[in-house]
Amino acid sequence: MKKIILKKGREKPVLKKHPWIFSGAIKKVDPGIIDGEIIELCDHSSGFLAYGYYNSKSQISIRLLEWNKDIDINDSWWQEKIKNSISRRDSIIKTDSYRLIFSEADYLPGLIVDKYGDYLVMQVLTAGIEKVKEIIVNALLDLTSPSRIFERSDSVTRKLEGLEKTSKILYGDSVPDSIIINENNFKFSVNLKEGQKTGFYLDQRRNREVVSSFSKERRVLDCFSYSGAFSVYSLAHGAESSTLIDSSKQALDLAKKNLELNNLSDSIFELVNEDVFKTLRKFRDCSADFDLIILDPPKLAPTRAQKNKAFRAYKDINLLGMKLLTQNGILATFSCSGGISQQDFRQIIFNAARDANREVQILTNLSQGVDHPIRLTCPETEYLKGFICRVI
Ligand code: SAH
Repeated sequence: MKKIILKKGREKPVLKKHPWIFSGAIKKVDPGIIDGEIIELCDHSSGFLAYGYYNSKSQISIRLLEWNKDIDINDSWWQEKIKNSISRRDSIIKTDSYRLIFSEADYLPGLIVDKYGDYLVMQVLTAGIEKVKEIIVNALLDLTSPSRIFERSDSVTRKLEGLEKTSKILYGDSVPDSIIINENNFKFSVNLKEGQKTGFYLDQRRNREVVSSFSKERRVLDCFSYSGAFSVYSLAHGAESSTLIDSSKQALDLAKKNLELNNLSDSIFELVNEDVFKTLRKFRDCSADFDLIILDPPKLAPTRAQKNKAFRAYKDINLLGMKLLTQNGILATFSCSGGISQQDFRQIIFNAARDANREVQILTNLSQGVDHPIRLTCPETEYLKGFICRVI
């Protein structure tokens, strides 16, 4: 097996089982390594550290897979890792759609697999996973007997790995334009081929339950609603009305379909196809108010580089949200930006409350669902943060 040698003093994160090696930490690469090939990583004096796969095109040059020198990374290694990831979810998830494999968090860097009923959607994010795709598809077929496996490798991050975007069926007949899934006994129409992410925000499942437990008899403002899941839960739990805002027309068409699928009358919801930042200002200017506001924006700071700009944008919507809330109103606010920590987010809420001149209590801390675990040795797997606040 070909070897890669680290610079002196750069082995510490590896010993702590962090799975990434950045290009700047590498001293020497054996000639002839193909992108995606499994390599042996050694310290500066050629001592074994771990096995991983290499990509000369990526800033993250190596993603580590195995720290035990005596274990071979062969077909059964991949099968075992996939099997473990699936079985970890068996006993804890009681719904038909959830994330089966969450990349680094499940010790399979670069691989995401989401289950939607008996459909699987797979995302291949790295050259290393591209090389073992067939093994993965066969293992998924053996372990889950899906009716279809669809590849949605259309993430922008593939470019960073020197890979083209691709979307195609890997197993079974063609995929219909929409399928109906069940989440906590609610029905949602999901477009696996073109919907956002792999079709649905599975990571918010638990948070939808928690937020909707505050919704009874409240007038809800569901900002960045996408396909309306927070509104479906909230209205079904007794909210008086919900106003959904999203800048995507397709998202709102889907939201309408989902509200109807769950027998929610169009007299209690309103769809606003606008920019949230502008609409919140309009509401403020006409003194509109709400009793529960949900803010679930897209990633405003994918990396730390965009942190300052994102800080301002998060503060802006949270400040406006607080101003629009009635006395003791509830703000359910989220950030899915990897570049913003929970501590940062809390500071943003503090600053927003100060400038809105409102007193705020945090009632609940929220995070990503249990099918999106946070790997302690890879803090980057934590991305979704949320607070339920009472605004006084
Ligand atoms: N709350 C949703 C997920 C939100 S994803 C759920 O639970 O399923 C973020 C959404 O914000 C996307 O649907 C995207 O279309 C929308 N969006 C992005 N920027 C926006 C903007 N400036 N104004 C309004 N909507 C926006």
